[in-house]
Amino acid sequence: MSEGKATVLLEHHLKALRLPTMLREYAPVAAACTTDRADYASYLLRLTERELLDRERRAADRRLKAARLPVMKTLDTFKFAAQPSVNQSLVRELMRGEYMAKHENVLIVGNSGTGKTHLATALAFAACAQGRKVRFWTVTQLVRQLLESREERSLQRLFTQMERHHLLVLDELGYVPFTKAGAELLFEVVSRAYERQSLLVTTNLPFENWTEVFGSERLTGALLDRLTHRVHILEANGDSYRLKEAKKGRKRPRSQPKGPEHTPEQGVDPTTDGGIIT
Ligand code: ADP
Ligand code: MG
Repeated sequence: MSEGKATVLLEHHLKALRLPTMLREYAPVAAACTTDRADYASYLLRLTERELLDRERRAADRRLKAARLPVMKTLDTFKFAAQPSVNQSLVRELMRGEYMAKHENVLIVGNSGTGKTHLATALAFAACAQGRKVRFWTVTQLVRQLLESREERSLQRLFTQMERHHLLVLDELGYVPFTKAGAELLFEVVSRAYERQSLLVTTNLPFENWTEVFGSERLTGALLDRLTHRVHILEANGDSYRLKEAKKGRKRPRSQPKGPEHTPEQGVDPTTDGGIIT
């Protein structure tokens, strides 16, 4: 067989087998192996390793996209010194993700601007990297979607979709009270997830005030019972980071870098809550 024909066939087979990295790399890796005097098995090993690594990276990217995180925040940019009330060792333990294997929940409680969404996002990001399927919602978004799905008679489909995830993040519970139907649907989400999935809930509300947003005392009791049966609670009770940054902002030197993870000069974060300091 001519070399040209062999190359065409090889490239066809690699495409058919869906091995894009091997397709891209087979020639340069062959050249490197010639230089290194590596044998055939080492050549194949190098190629398959690259394919596997790329495949894992692509899958993690897909999971991250599917998780629909509102902002990309990781733990690297979280300053524990700025929020001493947060239990750092618990955060680091949760970052390992074992709670998901045990279907345990995480509750992040604290005032506005104390980094709850930041931590929730960092945990969700870590979960995606660990091969977990994650979906992030604000509670308001989720309740709206639940109500719409019920209206369109596609609620079952939504529940089935939700059940495919290892971790459901429900951000900002407590800012808006629910209607009776909304509260009942959210209760159903929590019930379905119980001992099957992990829920990560962030809230500004102490437990004793949950009845105010859910309306019914009985429903709130049953919901809290399920949510907190196996739960890790992180408390963030310091001052608002946004507010502190806003005060500091005026004094900050102009040269300070401003990446996507950086709190804007005025301390308001348009990506989280429309820049309103609540
Ligand atoms: P919450 O959800 O509790 O209202 P956020 O997580 O949205 O607060 O935090 C508000 C802003 O301040 C975000 O830009 C977040 O990244 C930042 N932030 C909060 N706490 C910290 C911290 N300890 N270290 C670094 N950034 C923080
Ligand atoms: Mg938040």
